[in-house]
Amino acid sequence: MRILVTGGAGFIGSHLCERLIADGAEVICLDNFFTGRKANIEHLLPHPHFELVRHDVTEPILLEVDQIYNLACPASPVHYQYNPIKTVKTNVMGTINMLGLAKRVKARILQASTSEVYGDPIEHPQTEGYWGNVNPIGLRSCYDEGKRVAETLMMDYHRQSGVDTRIVRIFNTYGTRMLENDGRVVSNFIVQALRGERLTIYGDGSQTRSFCYVSDLVEGIVRLMNTEAEDIHLPVNIGNPGEFTMNELADEIGKATCRKIEIDYLPLPQDDPKQRQPNIERANALLGWEPTVPLAEGLKKTVEYFSGRTLR
Ligand code: NAD
Ligand code: UDP
Repeated sequence: MRILVTGGAGFIGSHLCERLIADGAEVICLDNFFTGRKANIEHLLPHPHFELVRHDVTEPILLEVDQIYNLACPASPVHYQYNPIKTVKTNVMGTINMLGLAKRVKARILQASTSEVYGDPIEHPQTEGYWGNVNPIGLRSCYDEGKRVAETLMMDYHRQSGVDTRIVRIFNTYGTRMLENDGRVVSNFIVQALRGERLTIYGDGSQTRSFCYVSDLVEGIVRLMNTEAEDIHLPVNIGNPGEFTMNELADEIGKATCRKIEIDYLPLPQDDPKQRQPNIERANALLGWEPTVPLAEGLKKTVEYFSGRTLR
């Protein structure tokens, strides 16, 4: 089995490449290194079944593969808002290019979508049937709407051209190999706590998120890719239903780092969702999947990872 992982040098992509190699697959890791790093996949480079390609998914590419995991796209608001036009291009043109490739070589393709397709959700917890509450013209739209179009493309290539597609809606995922300057809340809080800095909470800290450890996420998406079922082409939520306010998360980070936490409350970014929690009944029924790593345990591993690095 030859498998293409776009965004394979990123946080989730590098864990996925590692897992697929361990399963005995041949892996082509494709990345433009915008937020990915060679260091994330350095240990895989000597492996005879691993190949690294520097390429941008907004440009077409011809490869012979059996499966495609399309993960290429910056995931942190700081990074996807840095060049929003490029974020839209990555999600739209990148997905078209990968679907075109899948169609040509008859590969199965899985698209990394996001809980952001639900926007600032009114339905809570979010089921896959919920259409969302998304601002089409805000600062987050390049990502939220980009991913919604990516989902549309997946469904249209499936219905019109018979491409074998999968869509995973990933909820906030954290773990080792996140960038120190990633900008997402878990890495920000851990790095700030380890440096003895005050934690930056945006808004009053009452907004909620549900945090999934990366190994649970990877298990879920590999199962989704390799499952056959009548409605398997429709989106599947993968996330940990444990829901925390940012104030509660700050407390948890205090415990995981054994530091006394002090907080700076800063303005809330535009369109920041107030609440988010996945309903994972569909993933459970289709894939027999549920998360196994509780927040405290996942944070401990992530803190160990950041503690072992020299923080600038
Ligand atoms: P990440 O930023 O660490 O990884 C993204 C990777 O894609 C990086 O290696 C980056 O260099 C690469 N990339 C970006 N644009 C590219 C392009 N045009 N061509 C080729 N490579 C490109 O982020 P991540 O957290 O690993 O996210 C991976 C995927 O999962 C993304 O599609 C993201 O939208 C999705 N996702 C992640 C989360 C999460 O909480 N981590 C939540 C929802 C969805
Ligand atoms: N957040 C925060 N402090 C930070 C970074 C993020 O309070 O230093 C908040 C952010 O406003 C949001 C939540 O944490 O309410 C999750 O943010 P993140 O960027 O990790 O993910 P997303 O908003 O995309 O779910």
